[in-house]
Amino acid sequence: MDLPVDEWKSYIFQKWSLLPKSIQDTISTADTLKDIFLHSSSLLQPEDETFLKSLASGYLVGKDPNAPPFYREEGNKKFQKKDYVGATVLYSKGISHARPHTADISLCYANRSAALFYMDEYEMCLKDITRAQMHGYPESLQPKVTLRKVECLVTLGRLQEAGQTIRDLESNFAAKPTVAAAQFQILQRNLCRLKMKVQERERLTATFPTTLTKIFEDMDLREVNEQIPCASSSVSLCMDPLRGRYLIATEDILPGELLLKEDAFVSVLNPGERPPLHQGLANKWDTRVTNGDLYCHRCLTHTLAMVPCDGCSYAKYCSHECMQQAWGLYHNRECPLGGLLLTLGIFCHVALRATLLARFEGASKVIRKLSSEISNKDMCSPESETPLRSDLGGESEENGNIVQTPVPGCDVNGKYENNYNAVFHLLPHTEHHSPEYKFLCALSVSALCRQLEAADSSKPDAAAPPILCSELSTWGVAMLKHMLQLQCNAQAITTIQQTALSGSEENNVTNSRQVRLATGIFPVVSLLNHSCSPNTSMSFVSTVATVRASEKIAKGQEILHCYGPHHSRMAVAERQQKLRAQYFFDCSCPVCQKEKHRATVGPRWEAFCCGRCGALLQGGDVLSCGGTSCMESVSRDHLISRVQDLQRQVGGAQKLLGNGQLEQAIQLLLGCRHDAENFLSPEHSVVGEMEDALAQAYAALGDWQKSAAHLQKSLQVVEAQHGPSSVEMGHELFKLAQLFFNGFAIPEALNTIERAEKVLLVHYGPCSDEIQELQKMKSCLLDSPPI
Ligand SMILES: [Zn+2]
Ligand SMILES: [Zn+2]
Ligand SMILES: [Zn+2]
Ligand SMILES: [Zn+2]
Repeated sequence: MDLPVDEWKSYIFQKWSLLPKSIQDTISTADTLKDIFLHSSSLLQPEDETFLKSLASGYLVGKDPNAPPFYREEGNKKFQKKDYVGATVLYSKGISHARPHTADISLCYANRSAALFYMDEYEMCLKDITRAQMHGYPESLQPKVTLRKVECLVTLGRLQEAGQTIRDLESNFAAKPTVAAAQFQILQRNLCRLKMKVQERERLTATFPTTLTKIFEDMDLREVNEQIPCASSSVSLCMDPLRGRYLIATEDILPGELLLKEDAFVSVLNPGERPPLHQGLANKWDTRVTNGDLYCHRCLTHTLAMVPCDGCSYAKYCSHECMQQAWGLYHNRECPLGGLLLTLGIFCHVALRATLLARFEGASKVIRKLSSEISNKDMCSPESETPLRSDLGGESEENGNIVQTPVPGCDVNGKYENNYNAVFHLLPHTEHHSPEYKFLCALSVSALCRQLEAADSSKPDAAAPPILCSELSTWGVAMLKHMLQLQCNAQAITTIQQTALSGSEENNVTNSRQVRLATGIFPVVSLLNHSCSPNTSMSFVSTVATVRASEKIAKGQEILHCYGPHHSRMAVAERQQKLRAQYFFDCSCPVCQKEKHRATVGPRWEAFCCGRCGALLQGGDVLSCGGTSCMESVSRDHLISRVQDLQRQVGGAQKLLGNGQLEQAIQLLLGCRHDAENFLSPEHSVVGEMEDALAQAYAALGDWQKSAAHLQKSLQVVEAQHGPSSVEMGHELFKLAQLFFNGFAIPEALNTIERAEKVLLVHYGPCSDEIQELQKMKSCLLDSPPI
């Protein structure tokens, strides 16, 4: 996903292996990124480009006029089954393939408005009705959507507009007596009903005051930080030879305190599962739901009412405004390159978009800056080894003079901001990447540049002035630098997806799952160093990253973030290996140091117990009982195969759950749990999985009490593995609160809501969906009469 598709990767690696040794050496030992780029791109042959284009043409990214009727038909099928979400997504797919101002697009919008109406999404429904009419919705069908519009307006309390719409519709009838008599009668009846509804509503709203909608305001950054504008005033930027740039606390920080709030300099939506190459397939239209069907291509907002780009089918937006903004900033260049960008992967796409965005910080200035810095050999030498060398300082222009500043990425006043200057100073680690990888990146970027150039020259009107022309190599080098930076500096933008527990559509018990939405560059967040046991927690709303303290941080302590390998999910050896491979460093965080010295004792969530006395088993290949009077010993291999067998059975039970075979699932799980008691610690992660599945099964049966009892056991495992104030714990407590709430166990529910709130507030702040949901449950419980 991040890197180019395998076909292109292996093609380039093969090309590399066939290069004469002397050329390989020239590229491997090149001093600057510019040399790497120029040497590599001179080797890109027309046949390479042809091959790449053939790969890119496998993606359906343009508009296919035959697709809308197909998707509308499929959407109608879902609609009839009352799967309104599914229907909306399919109508959206149809819309994205239809040309503007055609019957196809207006019919899809109208159908989508109906689905949105049944989901009580009245505002979105109204917008879709307007869109349908704007694109020429057939006259004969107008009364149907107009009545829907009135229904929405009434429900939303916009009664004057509703009244006006009714009057317009009536005068329309009067002017066109062609409507069939029977149809006219139905319309009349509907109008009558709606008029009464309007009057009824008017009476009600006169007596009730409007309610306050937003109760909780997010706390904002305590004070403005002069040095880093998107950080709290309790944070300061430092630099030393060992750690490079890093952030420290300038005063004591409490758990939950907001430390950074940064909008991505650039972000690219992760297209999700790669759509299949459609060559030779009977049905080339994909009905699967991907990120691109649910999240705005620009701002990543979740929406069911997508508005597509007029030029392609792959870029869909939450609103017309977002579409226009994206078009002006970068999509006018990207639009014709959809297939190529999907083939070359997200890193390449982010690199392109970052350079396109850089134009808006003064294109010519940026280009001059790039040229001078890129030809400077030191720009790609390792900061981590000699970060204090003065020539590594950032250069800033002030009245035409080049001024040296102490910390790279800062401006002349020492200010570090979310801008292209800061992005440009993130480390590409050129010397750590393999020559093949650099060759792959350089050729991918070079091919992309040639396509951009071709697109520019094919526009004779020059309405959009060419961006690359003479500076093509400069832009190429900048893109190559960004691609190399991304391995260490790409930030995954995630969201919490709530999915209803299997088989329980009627109740509102949900599983929270973190999913990756996009890849972005956040120059301020990138200042945070890694720890396997970090003291912060990160969350996202749209493209904005929020970093909060997850524990107390004392004045002078470093502020740390986890790059992925967290100690509660990975053993020390695996973490070290991952960090070395991706980030090129050896972790020496306190947890790593501690764990290196006691390698034989595994964590509790992987521990085995003695079958005879229940004490913990210890040792290497042969485990022996830790109980004082017990001589039991077992081979590790034997225990591991038993665990694997249990895992298979739990997987089977989860499948049964998914199919709604609840009783069978429960029987299987209870059997598994009985087996587990004989050799696994009660805090073993597999035991947690069983208890969680049992909780799901009983929830699906509506047995809240049993479900809650099992979830509490699963909670113990989560607590042992991730800690009592971890975000994982927060999600489990949230689920438990929902169970108690559904079972109307008031004291237990209130208690659990409070615990969940306490944990989730620290990680997500008061504005998050989960906290709002918990508040709603609480006020509902407190308002309910005592039993
Ligand atoms: Zn948007
Ligand atoms: Zn487009
Ligand atoms: Zn570590
Ligand atoms: Zn024993």
